Amino acid sequence: MAIATVNPATGETLKTFDALNAGEIEDHLVRAEQAFQEHRTTSFARRRELLLAAADLLDADQDGIARTMTTEMGKPLAQARAEAAKCAKTMRWYATHAEALLADEHPDPADVSDSGARRAVVRYRPLGTVLAVMPWNFPLWQVVRFAAPALMAGNTGLLKHASNVPQTALYIEELFRRAGYPEGCFQTLLIGSGAVEEILRDPRIAAATLTGSEPAGRAVAAVSGDEVKKTVLELGGSDPFLVLPSADLDKAARVGVTARVQNNGQSCIAAKRFIVHEDVYDAFVERFTSRMAALTVGDPMDENTDVGPLSSEQGRSDLEELVDDAVHKGATALCGGQRPPQHRAGWFYEPTVLSGITSEMRIHQEEAFGPVATLYRVADLDEAVRIANDTPFGLSSNAWTRDPDEQDRLARDLQAGGVFFNGMTASHPGLPFGGAKRSGYGRELSGHGMREFCNMTTLWYG
Ligand code: NAP
Repeated sequence: MAIATVNPATGETLKTFDALNAGEIEDHLVRAEQAFQEHRTTSFARRRELLLAAADLLDADQDGIARTMTTEMGKPLAQARAEAAKCAKTMRWYATHAEALLADEHPDPADVSDSGARRAVVRYRPLGTVLAVMPWNFPLWQVVRFAAPALMAGNTGLLKHASNVPQTALYIEELFRRAGYPEGCFQTLLIGSGAVEEILRDPRIAAATLTGSEPAGRAVAAVSGDEVKKTVLELGGSDPFLVLPSADLDKAARVGVTARVQNNGQSCIAAKRFIVHEDVYDAFVERFTSRMAALTVGDPMDENTDVGPLSSEQGRSDLEELVDDAVHKGATALCGGQRPPQHRAGWFYEPTVLSGITSEMRIHQEEAFGPVATLYRVADLDEAVRIANDTPFGLSSNAWTRDPDEQDRLARDLQAGGVFFNGMTASHPGLPFGGAKRSGYGRELSGHGMREFCNMTTLWYG
């Protein structure tokens, strides 16, 4: 895949970039290693100062970087601005909390004495340079949610970003440089995915984090496994959105539409499968479908646009194939199901609601990465849980019920890294984020995410 900015709203190639050659990659590795040796010894106070400076710069740059993101991958401009704001907030959160989250731990005195020590301490030390392989869909957020905790912990980062967001990738490197981070602390590598394996095998790389598709995760995890290097994987999702009889249907329909079409439907934690109890099925579907059909599809730079284009031509044809397969096997498109006729250029697709989904349809098992919702009508909670879990993925889940017994049952039985009751899944700096099953392993955000790339060291004093 060429490293290039191609505007998905028009299909026009705006700028292309050469991939780094072997010598340039080596230079980046040398700088990263040198920077790690310095950065790992800096105080939390200094790290806090640097990250706060980056947050302030990002706030000042908000409109510009938002426009770059929208140009490169097509998300509506207001959502791009919100993404930049969330990144600055998360930087400040880690700047404020990292020291306490990584404070020394003191084991129980009885256990210390049982080990024969005078005292023992558990200390979180940085691991080294972490290779971050990142996707285009939240091109700033996915990087910052790794970089902020990693840098506060004393690690250094090398970013291999998706090939269609090179200008955003270069902006991030520049942001950290302008904030005052020493050269090499956080660098962008403009490389294709074929160059990842050799870098990952380099002894100067301590660990890897990947956010992206299952095949990419498998490739990076296989090499890392071979090299015995730690990985965190944040992969795809097909999150269920359960609507049970006690739900507030108006709110569930309104939030459900946002949960499905945020980021033009290209979010790992988007609600994708709507599983609705038969007692409220007709009432929910009527509310939900009318809202989906009323969305404005168009130029993502236009403030009135709800849904912009998909990020690539390939992404749109993958989505079309899933919808066509379902319709061919008996599903009904209650709205959408095609390219909007008014948009001839660009990779647009109409917000779509499909009913009558069966297990033979590909969309039942595969991730629909675009504004397409599937509907399931269920007779009871058992059937809802069975369908919710009938997927290879386990990223997050949403359940609309005000019944505490149902909430307890779902908290116990939904196979996912999160269960969000009466709301939509979203990530927050202070809450752990990550998946189960084929959605990956490890966690990001909160103290849990920061400790993933730490060497938890036992200090024993005789
Ligand atoms: P992708 O094709 O897997 O790309 C993600 C990154 O991996 C890109 O930088 C890509 O580089 C690289 N890559 C691809 N194949 C690789 C390989 N064999 N070895 C090493 N690197 C490789 O995914 P995407 O299309 O950009 O993103 C969509 C997917 O990401 C969806 O499945 C979505 O659910 C998932 N996602 C998950 C989360 C989460 O937190 N769980 C968040 C966002 C997205 P190139 O661009 O150069 O190919």
